[in-house]
Amino acid sequence: MKIVSAALAACTLAVGLGAPAFAQDKGTIGIAMPTQSSARWISDGHSMEQQFQAAGYGTVLQYAEDDIPTQLSQIENMISQGVDALVIAAIDGTTLSSALENAAAAGIPVIAYDRLIRDSENVNYYATFDNFQVGVQQAESLVKGLNERFADQKPWNVELFGGSPDDNNAYFFYDGAMSVLQPLIDAGDVVIPSGQMGMDVVGTLRWDPATAQSRMDNLLSANYGDKTIHGVLSPYDGLSIGILSSLKGVGYGSGDMAMPIVTGQDAEVPSVKSMIAGEQYSTIFKDTRELAGVTVKMVDAVLQGQEPEVNDTETYNNGVKVVPSYLLEPVSVDATNYEDILVGSGYYTADQIQ
Ligand code: BGC
Repeated sequence: MKIVSAALAACTLAVGLGAPAFAQDKGTIGIAMPTQSSARWISDGHSMEQQFQAAGYGTVLQYAEDDIPTQLSQIENMISQGVDALVIAAIDGTTLSSALENAAAAGIPVIAYDRLIRDSENVNYYATFDNFQVGVQQAESLVKGLNERFADQKPWNVELFGGSPDDNNAYFFYDGAMSVLQPLIDAGDVVIPSGQMGMDVVGTLRWDPATAQSRMDNLLSANYGDKTIHGVLSPYDGLSIGILSSLKGVGYGSGDMAMPIVTGQDAEVPSVKSMIAGEQYSTIFKDTRELAGVTVKMVDAVLQGQEPEVNDTETYNNGVKVVPSYLLEPVSVDATNYEDILVGSGYYTADQIQ
Protein backbone atom coordinates (compact mmCIF):
# COMPACT_ATOMS: atom_id res chain seq x y z
CA MET A 1 0.00 0.00 0.00
CA LYS A 2 1.28 3.44 -0.85
CA ILE A 3 1.67 6.69 1.04
CA VAL A 4 -2.05 7.21 1.27
CA SER A 5 -4.25 4.53 2.69
CA ALA A 6 -6.60 2.85 0.29
CA ALA A 7 -9.59 4.39 2.00
CA LEU A 8 -8.11 7.87 1.81
CA ALA A 9 -7.25 7.29 -1.82
CA ALA A 10 -10.85 6.38 -2.51
CA CYS A 11 -12.15 9.47 -0.76
CA THR A 12 -9.75 11.79 -2.54
CA LEU A 13 -10.49 10.11 -5.80
CA ALA A 14 -14.16 10.62 -5.15
CA VAL A 15 -13.50 14.35 -5.12
CA GLY A 16 -11.01 14.46 -7.97
CA LEU A 17 -12.32 11.87 -10.37
CA GLY A 18 -15.98 11.31 -9.64
CA ALA A 19 -17.63 8.08 -8.56
CA PRO A 20 -14.89 5.55 -7.91
CA ALA A 21 -15.81 2.17 -6.49
CA PHE A 22 -14.63 2.26 -2.90
CA ALA A 23 -11.20 0.89 -2.36
CA GLN A 24 -11.13 -2.43 -0.61
CA ASP A 25 -8.28 -3.82 1.49
CA LYS A 26 -5.79 -4.38 -1.26
CA GLY A 27 -5.68 -0.91 -2.81
CA THR A 28 -7.12 1.11 -5.67
CA ILE A 29 -6.48 0.51 -9.35
CA GLY A 30 -6.71 3.33 -11.89
CA ILE A 31 -8.13 2.11 -15.19
CA ALA A 32 -7.79 4.46 -18.19
CA MET A 33 -9.77 3.37 -21.24
CA PRO A 34 -9.83 5.10 -24.63
CA THR A 35 -13.49 5.58 -25.54
CA GLN A 36 -17.04 4.51 -24.96
CA SER A 37 -17.85 4.93 -28.64
CA SER A 38 -16.90 1.29 -29.16
CA ALA A 39 -18.67 -1.37 -27.11
CA ARG A 40 -15.59 -3.50 -26.68
CA TRP A 41 -13.95 -0.92 -24.39
CA ILE A 42 -17.12 -0.70 -22.33
CA SER A 43 -16.97 -4.48 -21.84
CA ASP A 44 -13.28 -4.27 -20.97
CA GLY A 45 -14.00 -1.62 -18.33
CA HIS A 46 -16.92 -3.56 -16.80
CA SER A 47 -15.00 -6.80 -16.72
CA MET A 48 -12.06 -5.17 -15.03
CA GLU A 49 -14.19 -3.40 -12.44
CA GLN A 50 -15.91 -6.65 -11.57
CA GLN A 51 -12.79 -8.77 -11.48
CA PHE A 52 -10.63 -6.27 -9.59
CA GLN A 53 -13.37 -5.82 -7.03
CA ALA A 54 -13.77 -9.59 -6.68
CA ALA A 55 -10.01 -9.77 -6.04
CA GLY A 56 -10.26 -7.20 -3.25
CA TYR A 57 -9.36 -3.96 -5.05
CA GLY A 58 -11.19 -0.71 -5.52
CA THR A 59 -11.26 0.75 -9.01
CA VAL A 60 -11.35 4.12 -10.70
CA LEU A 61 -12.45 3.66 -14.30
CA GLN A 62 -12.27 6.53 -16.76
CA TYR A 63 -12.90 6.91 -20.49
CA ALA A 64 -11.37 9.70 -22.53
CA GLU A 65 -13.56 9.68 -25.66
CA ASP A 66 -10.53 9.39 -27.91
CA ASP A 67 -9.16 12.76 -26.79
CA ILE A 68 -5.45 12.55 -25.98
CA PRO A 69 -5.25 15.53 -23.55
CA THR A 70 -8.28 14.18 -21.66
CA GLN A 71 -6.65 10.79 -21.23
CA LEU A 72 -3.40 12.39 -20.13
CA SER A 73 -5.08 14.47 -17.48
CA GLN A 74 -7.12 11.50 -16.26
CA ILE A 75 -3.92 9.50 -15.83
CA GLU A 76 -2.12 12.39 -14.16
CA ASN A 77 -5.02 12.78 -11.72
CA MET A 78 -4.96 9.09 -10.91
CA ILE A 79 -1.23 9.35 -10.19
CA SER A 80 -1.53 12.41 -8.02
CA GLN A 81 -4.44 10.88 -6.12
CA GLY A 82 -2.26 7.89 -5.27
CA VAL A 83 -3.68 4.85 -7.03
CA ASP A 84 -1.73 1.66 -6.37
CA ALA A 85 -1.44 0.59 -10.00
CA LEU A 86 -2.43 1.89 -13.43
CA VAL A 87 -4.01 -0.10 -16.25
CA ILE A 88 -3.97 1.89 -19.46
CA ALA A 89 -5.39 1.29 -22.93
CA ALA A 90 -3.77 4.26 -24.64
CA ILE A 91 -5.45 6.43 -27.26
CA ASP A 92 -2.09 7.40 -28.72
CA GLY A 93 0.54 4.95 -27.53
CA THR A 94 3.32 7.52 -27.89
CA THR A 95 2.05 10.39 -25.75
CA LEU A 96 2.28 9.06 -22.22
CA SER A 97 6.03 9.07 -21.53
CA SER A 98 6.13 12.03 -19.16
CA ALA A 99 3.00 10.98 -17.27
CA LEU A 100 4.54 7.56 -16.79
CA GLU A 101 7.71 9.11 -15.41
CA ASN A 102 5.54 10.58 -12.69
CA ALA A 103 3.95 7.18 -12.11
CA ALA A 104 7.38 5.58 -11.78
CA ALA A 105 8.54 8.31 -9.41
CA ALA A 106 5.50 7.57 -7.25
CA GLY A 107 6.19 3.82 -7.39
CA ILE A 108 3.00 3.08 -9.33
CA PRO A 109 3.32 0.05 -11.62
CA VAL A 110 1.82 0.37 -15.11
CA ILE A 111 0.18 -2.32 -17.19
CA ALA A 112 -0.39 -1.59 -20.88
CA TYR A 113 -3.83 -2.97 -21.62
CA ASP A 114 -4.44 -4.37 -25.11
CA ARG A 115 -2.44 -1.53 -26.75
CA LEU A 116 1.29 -1.22 -26.22
CA ILE A 117 2.49 2.03 -24.64
CA ARG A 118 5.50 3.14 -26.64
CA ASP A 119 8.63 5.19 -25.94
CA SER A 120 8.67 4.65 -22.19
CA GLU A 121 10.68 2.44 -19.90
CA ASN A 122 7.97 2.80 -17.28
CA VAL A 123 5.67 0.12 -18.61
CA ASN A 124 5.92 -2.96 -16.43
CA TYR A 125 3.83 -5.47 -18.36
CA TYR A 126 1.57 -5.78 -21.37
CA ALA A 127 -1.66 -7.81 -21.49
CA THR A 128 -3.07 -8.30 -24.97
CA PHE A 129 -4.05 -10.73 -27.70
CA ASP A 130 -1.75 -12.12 -30.35
CA ASN A 131 -2.17 -9.08 -32.58
CA PHE A 132 -0.23 -10.46 -35.57
CA GLN A 133 -2.50 -13.50 -35.44
CA VAL A 134 -5.56 -11.22 -35.49
CA GLY A 135 -4.37 -9.89 -38.86
CA VAL A 136 -3.62 -13.39 -40.13
CA GLN A 137 -7.13 -14.51 -39.16
CA GLN A 138 -8.73 -11.45 -40.80
CA ALA A 139 -6.95 -12.12 -44.09
CA GLU A 140 -7.59 -15.87 -43.92
CA SER A 141 -11.30 -15.27 -43.50
CA LEU A 142 -11.22 -12.71 -46.33
CA VAL A 143 -9.70 -15.35 -48.61
CA LYS A 144 -12.13 -18.01 -47.40
CA GLY A 145 -15.02 -15.67 -48.24
CA LEU A 146 -13.59 -14.75 -51.63
CA ASN A 147 -13.33 -18.45 -52.47
CA GLU A 148 -16.89 -19.07 -51.34
CA ARG A 149 -18.57 -16.10 -53.00
CA PHE A 150 -16.38 -15.24 -55.97
CA ALA A 151 -14.55 -18.47 -56.89
CA ASP A 152 -15.08 -17.86 -60.61
CA GLN A 153 -14.12 -14.18 -60.61
CA LYS A 154 -10.35 -14.24 -60.08
CA PRO A 155 -8.35 -12.10 -59.89
CA TRP A 156 -10.21 -10.64 -56.93
CA ASN A 157 -10.35 -6.87 -56.53
CA VAL A 158 -9.64 -6.01 -52.93
CA GLU A 159 -9.07 -2.80 -50.95
CA LEU A 160 -7.16 -2.55 -47.69
CA PHE A 161 -7.95 -0.59 -44.54
CA GLY A 162 -5.61 -0.18 -41.60
CA GLY A 163 -6.22 0.90 -38.02
CA SER A 164 -5.07 4.08 -36.33
CA PRO A 165 -1.42 4.88 -37.06
CA ASP A 166 -0.90 5.96 -33.43
CA ASP A 167 -1.96 2.50 -32.20
CA ASN A 168 0.88 -0.03 -32.23
CA ASN A 169 -1.65 -2.81 -32.76
CA ALA A 170 -2.64 -1.41 -36.13
CA TYR A 171 0.77 -2.35 -37.58
CA PHE A 172 0.58 -5.87 -36.18
CA PHE A 173 -2.90 -6.36 -37.64
CA TYR A 174 -1.77 -5.03 -41.03
CA ASP A 175 1.45 -7.03 -41.11
CA GLY A 176 -0.35 -10.20 -40.06
CA ALA A 177 -2.93 -9.70 -42.80
CA MET A 178 -0.30 -8.95 -45.44
CA SER A 179 1.59 -12.12 -44.53
CA VAL A 180 -1.42 -13.91 -46.01
CA LEU A 181 -2.38 -11.46 -48.79
CA GLN A 182 1.01 -10.51 -50.23
CA PRO A 183 1.67 -13.99 -51.68
CA LEU A 184 -1.76 -13.86 -53.35
CA ILE A 185 -1.00 -10.40 -54.73
CA ASP A 186 2.36 -11.65 -55.99
CA ALA A 187 0.64 -14.63 -57.62
CA GLY A 188 -1.89 -12.33 -59.33
CA ASP A 189 -4.91 -13.82 -57.53
CA VAL A 190 -5.58 -10.60 -55.61
CA VAL A 191 -5.37 -7.14 -57.17
CA ILE A 192 -5.56 -3.82 -55.32
CA PRO A 193 -7.09 -1.58 -58.03
CA SER A 194 -6.42 1.67 -56.11
CA GLY A 195 -2.80 0.68 -55.60
CA GLN A 196 -3.18 1.94 -52.02
CA MET A 197 -1.04 -0.21 -49.75
CA GLY A 198 1.04 0.28 -46.62
CA MET A 199 -0.05 1.62 -43.23
CA ASP A 200 1.07 5.16 -44.14
CA VAL A 201 -1.60 5.17 -46.87
CA VAL A 202 -4.39 2.91 -45.59
CA GLY A 203 -4.37 3.83 -41.87
CA THR A 204 -7.57 5.24 -40.32
CA LEU A 205 -6.87 7.86 -37.67
CA ARG A 206 -8.53 7.10 -34.27
CA TRP A 207 -10.25 4.10 -35.85
CA ASP A 208 -12.98 6.50 -37.00
CA PRO A 209 -15.87 4.82 -38.87
CA ALA A 210 -16.80 8.02 -40.75
CA THR A 211 -13.23 8.36 -42.04
CA ALA A 212 -13.36 4.77 -43.31
CA GLN A 213 -16.73 5.34 -44.92
CA SER A 214 -15.58 8.41 -46.82
CA ARG A 215 -12.35 6.73 -47.90
CA MET A 216 -14.43 3.80 -49.20
CA ASP A 217 -16.69 6.26 -51.08
CA ASN A 218 -13.61 7.76 -52.71
CA LEU A 219 -12.07 4.39 -53.53
CA LEU A 220 -15.27 3.28 -55.22
CA SER A 221 -15.76 6.40 -57.27
CA ALA A 222 -12.12 6.66 -58.34
CA ASN A 223 -11.43 3.00 -59.13
CA TYR A 224 -14.59 0.99 -59.63
CA GLY A 225 -16.51 2.75 -62.41
CA ASP A 226 -16.17 -0.34 -64.58
CA LYS A 227 -15.00 -2.88 -62.01
CA THR A 228 -16.51 -4.96 -59.26
CA ILE A 229 -14.98 -4.94 -55.79
CA HIS A 230 -14.84 -8.39 -54.22
CA GLY A 231 -13.32 -7.83 -50.81
CA VAL A 232 -12.29 -5.29 -48.21
CA LEU A 233 -9.78 -5.95 -45.46
CA SER A 234 -11.21 -4.09 -42.48
CA PRO A 235 -9.38 -4.30 -39.14
CA TYR A 236 -12.23 -3.25 -36.82
CA ASP A 237 -16.01 -3.68 -36.75
CA GLY A 238 -16.68 0.06 -36.46
CA LEU A 239 -14.81 0.63 -39.72
CA SER A 240 -16.57 -2.35 -41.30
CA ILE A 241 -19.97 -0.81 -40.62
CA GLY A 242 -18.86 2.43 -42.32
CA ILE A 243 -17.37 0.52 -45.25
CA LEU A 244 -20.56 -1.53 -45.65
CA SER A 245 -22.70 1.64 -45.71
CA SER A 246 -20.55 2.97 -48.49
CA LEU A 247 -20.80 -0.29 -50.45
CA LYS A 248 -24.57 -0.46 -49.96
CA GLY A 249 -24.80 3.17 -51.03
CA VAL A 250 -23.67 2.25 -54.54
CA GLY A 251 -25.84 -0.88 -54.74
CA TYR A 252 -23.69 -3.73 -53.43
CA GLY A 253 -25.69 -6.35 -51.59
CA SER A 254 -28.78 -5.91 -53.75
CA GLY A 255 -29.94 -7.00 -57.21
CA ASP A 256 -27.10 -8.78 -58.98
CA MET A 257 -24.36 -6.94 -57.08
CA ALA A 258 -23.07 -9.46 -54.54
CA MET A 259 -21.84 -7.99 -51.27
CA PRO A 260 -18.05 -7.94 -51.14
CA ILE A 261 -16.36 -9.91 -48.35
CA VAL A 262 -15.75 -7.48 -45.46
CA THR A 263 -13.80 -8.53 -42.37
CA GLY A 264 -13.77 -6.97 -38.90
CA GLN A 265 -12.69 -7.27 -35.29
CA ASP A 266 -14.22 -7.22 -31.80
CA ALA A 267 -17.51 -9.03 -32.41
CA GLU A 268 -19.48 -5.89 -31.60
CA VAL A 269 -23.26 -6.30 -31.62
CA PRO A 270 -24.01 -4.29 -34.81
CA SER A 271 -21.41 -6.34 -36.67
CA VAL A 272 -22.68 -9.66 -35.37
CA LYS A 273 -26.16 -8.63 -36.51
CA SER A 274 -24.71 -7.60 -39.85
CA MET A 275 -23.04 -11.02 -40.19
CA ILE A 276 -26.30 -12.76 -39.42
CA ALA A 277 -27.96 -10.58 -42.08
CA GLY A 278 -25.32 -11.69 -44.62
CA GLU A 279 -23.56 -8.33 -44.88
CA GLN A 280 -20.31 -8.25 -42.86
CA TYR A 281 -18.58 -11.57 -43.53
CA SER A 282 -16.53 -12.11 -40.39
CA THR A 283 -15.11 -10.63 -37.24
CA ILE A 284 -12.41 -11.54 -34.75
CA PHE A 285 -13.58 -12.29 -31.22
CA LYS A 286 -11.30 -11.22 -28.41
CA ASP A 287 -12.87 -12.19 -25.12
CA THR A 288 -12.56 -9.05 -23.00
CA ARG A 289 -13.43 -11.07 -19.89
CA GLU A 290 -10.27 -13.10 -20.39
CA LEU A 291 -8.13 -10.05 -21.03
CA ALA A 292 -9.46 -8.46 -17.86
CA GLY A 293 -8.71 -11.69 -16.01
CA VAL A 294 -5.10 -11.76 -17.16
CA THR A 295 -4.71 -8.10 -16.24
CA VAL A 296 -6.13 -8.52 -12.76
CA LYS A 297 -3.75 -11.42 -12.14
CA MET A 298 -0.81 -9.37 -13.40
CA VAL A 299 -1.61 -6.39 -11.21
CA ASP A 300 -2.25 -8.59 -8.19
CA ALA A 301 1.08 -10.38 -8.64
CA VAL A 302 3.01 -7.12 -9.04
CA LEU A 303 1.38 -5.57 -5.97
CA GLN A 304 2.13 -8.72 -3.95
CA GLY A 305 5.77 -8.46 -5.01
CA GLN A 306 5.56 -11.52 -7.27
CA GLU A 307 6.41 -12.10 -10.92
CA PRO A 308 3.26 -12.20 -13.05
CA GLU A 309 2.87 -14.96 -15.59
CA VAL A 310 3.89 -13.90 -19.11
CA ASN A 311 4.11 -15.94 -22.30
CA ASP A 312 6.00 -13.58 -24.62
CA THR A 313 9.23 -11.75 -23.89
CA GLU A 314 10.30 -11.02 -27.48
CA THR A 315 7.62 -9.49 -29.63
CA TYR A 316 6.67 -6.16 -28.10
CA ASN A 317 9.56 -3.73 -28.25
CA ASN A 318 8.13 -0.33 -27.37
CA GLY A 319 11.11 1.61 -28.70
CA VAL A 320 12.87 1.60 -25.33
CA LYS A 321 12.54 -1.97 -24.13
CA VAL A 322 10.82 -5.25 -24.81
CA VAL A 323 7.77 -5.26 -22.58
CA PRO A 324 7.03 -8.68 -21.05
CA SER A 325 3.63 -9.68 -22.35
CA TYR A 326 0.79 -12.12 -21.96
CA LEU A 327 -0.86 -12.86 -25.30
CA LEU A 328 -4.31 -14.39 -25.52
CA GLU A 329 -5.57 -16.20 -28.62
CA PRO A 330 -8.09 -14.40 -30.85
CA VAL A 331 -10.89 -16.41 -32.47
CA SER A 332 -12.17 -15.96 -36.01
CA VAL A 333 -15.96 -15.78 -36.13
CA ASP A 334 -18.39 -15.85 -39.05
CA ALA A 335 -21.99 -16.83 -39.71
CA THR A 336 -21.10 -20.50 -39.31
CA ASN A 337 -19.77 -20.39 -35.75
CA TYR A 338 -21.01 -17.22 -34.04
CA GLU A 339 -23.65 -19.03 -32.00
CA ASP A 340 -21.18 -21.49 -30.58
CA ILE A 341 -18.51 -18.94 -29.85
CA LEU A 342 -20.40 -15.83 -28.84
CA VAL A 343 -23.59 -17.21 -27.34
CA GLY A 344 -22.12 -20.53 -26.21
CA SER A 345 -19.45 -18.76 -24.19
CA GLY A 346 -22.04 -16.48 -22.56
CA TYR A 347 -20.46 -13.37 -24.09
CA TYR A 348 -23.85 -12.46 -25.55
CA THR A 349 -27.32 -13.78 -24.98
CA ALA A 350 -29.18 -14.96 -28.07
CA ASP A 351 -31.53 -11.99 -27.58
CA GLN A 352 -28.77 -9.41 -27.71
CA ILE A 353 -27.79 -10.32 -31.23
CA GLN A 354 -31.27 -10.97 -32.66
C1 BGC B 1 -7.81 -3.08 -30.41
C2 BGC B 1 -8.93 -3.60 -31.27
C3 BGC B 1 -9.91 -2.50 -31.59
C4 BGC B 1 -9.23 -1.23 -32.02
C5 BGC B 1 -10.21 -0.09 -32.13
C6 BGC B 1 -7.21 -1.87 -31.05
O1 BGC B 1 -6.16 -1.42 -30.29
O2 BGC B 1 -6.85 -4.09 -30.23
O3 BGC B 1 -9.59 -4.66 -30.62
O4 BGC B 1 -10.73 -2.92 -32.65
O5 BGC B 1 -8.22 -0.88 -31.13
O6 BGC B 1 -10.80 0.18 -30.90
